[in-house]
Amino acid sequence: MSNHVIIIGGGIGGSAAALRAAQNGLNTIWILGTRSTKKRSRSQWVNNIDNMIGFHEDVIKNQAIKILERKGHADAAELLKQTHFHINNRQIIANTINRIRTHYPNCTLIEDEVTTLKKSSGGFEVILSAQTFFTPTVILATGVMDKQPHLALTNKKGEVEFSPKWIYPFANREQFLYCIRCEGHLTTDDRVAVLGHGPAAGELALMLKERYQNQVTILTNDKTPAIDKRTRDLLKAYHVEVVTDPITGLRSEGVKELHGFEFETHDPVPVRFALVALGLHRVYNDLAIQVGARLMDTDQPEEKRHIWINAKGETSINNLFVVGDAAKRDDELVMKQIYTAQEYAVRAVDTIDNRRRKRQRVKTLS
Ligand SMILES: Cc1cc2nc3c(=O)[nH]c(=O)nc-3n(C[C@H](O)[C@H](O)[C@H](O)COP(=O)(O)OP(=O)(O)OC[C@H]3O[C@@H](n4cnc5c(N)ncnc54)[C@H](O)[C@@H]3O)c2cc1C
Repeated sequence: MSNHVIIIGGGIGGSAAALRAAQNGLNTIWILGTRSTKKRSRSQWVNNIDNMIGFHEDVIKNQAIKILERKGHADAAELLKQTHFHINNRQIIANTINRIRTHYPNCTLIEDEVTTLKKSSGGFEVILSAQTFFTPTVILATGVMDKQPHLALTNKKGEVEFSPKWIYPFANREQFLYCIRCEGHLTTDDRVAVLGHGPAAGELALMLKERYQNQVTILTNDKTPAIDKRTRDLLKAYHVEVVTDPITGLRSEGVKELHGFEFETHDPVPVRFALVALGLHRVYNDLAIQVGARLMDTDQPEEKRHIWINAKGETSINNLFVVGDAAKRDDELVMKQIYTAQEYAVRAVDTIDNRRRKRQRVKTLS
């Protein structure tokens, strides 16, 4: 059986594309990546999604409570009421994999990394660690990674360690945040530090103030701020302080609750949240580059450039599509959320399916 599409990437964009392709009846190969590609993907960092309609525990929980109450299990119903169920990316992906394995034999799943993508007659050559596939159509969903703040803090042995590891426990508890559109609402009326020194840090500080009425401080952590005059004037009018001192300590209750930042000479800055605004560490664009696809962001180094797509999700290379965080259109801001990854995926798969069915109709009548 020849395949119609190979989807590369086992995150949110890849999951959405794979389910759609499977449900559209396309012969699909879905390459999920490995432990190591997974570890460096954004999906791993999302612990609690609550910015989308439908993705909410109460949708199912309330139905379950009603059934338990009707059947006389009041204790179980009460236990459910008191339990909070996080919904995270790992669960969504595991659920999609399970649904596809159970219901869609037209989709083959492979846990491996694609190392090379080549153009070949009639499509693409997709090379994995131990096997090669040929396919007329490829969807890349390889994602991006955010730049992490490195803090020089003192460890238990009394040594200063320059590392991003200090913030991980707080990131896991949604106190270090990465996405204003996904998590900004959590900070309403609270104290927030923006970690960054570039234009994005200035813009995000303004947004926090305007949307959520936060008390905001920008911490550049020993970097010179690169914020334009208009934004600086607005920050001043909004009483946003820009602290340029190096961060020397975190104030917290163990690793449970962030209370603020310490400096050598500046007064401590008490906050409940920190928003990371350091830009991207990487766009996983290697495979697109290998086949000569056009990139965006000409002012950035190659490893930070998004892959150009049109409104259907197709790149400058025919039948190569990109969905999710690695993609960027030139007619809108970069979109990096779960629902945008899903929307890109649906558009790309439906385009592939439309083309396939058109060919089938021509063949049928010839
Ligand atoms: C802390 C945090 C919180 C967030 N919270 C929310 C939220 O609440 N709501 C929301 O809408 N969005 C949220 N987001 C954004 C959301 O997680 C991303 O938009 C989404 O994960 C992007 O999906 P993606 O498929 O493009 O990339 P990813 O989900 O990062 O997946 C990339 C996949 O590609 C695979 N891969 C990479 N290279 C290869 C290769 N060569 N071969 C095979 N596989 C490969 C990786 O293993 C990985 O599975 C959050 C992001 C972060 C960082």
